[in-house]
Amino acid sequence: MKLVKHIANLGYGSRRQVQWMFREGRVTDSAGEVLYADDRVAHEAVCIDGEPLDPPPGLLLVLHKPVGYTCSTKDAGRLVYDLLPPRFRLRDPVLSTVGRLDRDTSGLLLLTDDGQLLHRIISPKANLPKTYEATLARPLRGDEADVFASGTLLLESETTPLKPARLEVIDATHARLTIGEGRYHQVRRMFAAVGNHVEALHRSRVGGLALDGLAEGEWRIAGDEDRARLF
Ligand code: URA
Repeated sequence: MKLVKHIANLGYGSRRQVQWMFREGRVTDSAGEVLYADDRVAHEAVCIDGEPLDPPPGLLLVLHKPVGYTCSTKDAGRLVYDLLPPRFRLRDPVLSTVGRLDRDTSGLLLLTDDGQLLHRIISPKANLPKTYEATLARPLRGDEADVFASGTLLLESETTPLKPARLEVIDATHARLTIGEGRYHQVRRMFAAVGNHVEALHRSRVGGLALDGLAEGEWRIAGDEDRARLF
């Protein structure tokens, strides 16, 4: 692909704006040699204003989503994209959240521009385990783990029972729940189905991938190790 298109796709500007960057000699190789709009040069060898380019397509990000941010591109409030470099929102292919977390849920959120990877993670067939730490309004009754594991629990207004899920009781009002599906508000609705209410919800794992020290609002580019832990 011609450099001008590649750089525009990374969100640096429209084709016309990026053409100007070339004319101004801002696009160089790593030795400082000026590059041209029609050049076809390996991504790694290109700099703008002396800085390496943003990561190429095929990006997977691990974000520690704080409460209060929405997994949307155009909600009125704070968006998870506000936590990323502004250019990331302008990339083509677009960077999408891999599934969603509610505004009031914190924790591990993946974003990717790789449609196949996204599909692989969220596909019901993959049944990829997602682990949530729930703080409950009322003490657990004692039968929740059996109910969730039964594979017979029906959520309100649904006709297909949930697949078996694993509940670990931490104490009377704290539990760790691992689910394979990703139905709308699933964890909150599961606890509602057993007469409880989720006061706080945090996703700690997707597959074998964890936040590993990322503070709220921080993100990292998933490396090979992260990717290997996912499936
Ligand atoms: N289940 C929920 O209820 N909320 C989330 O954000 C994720 C899973």
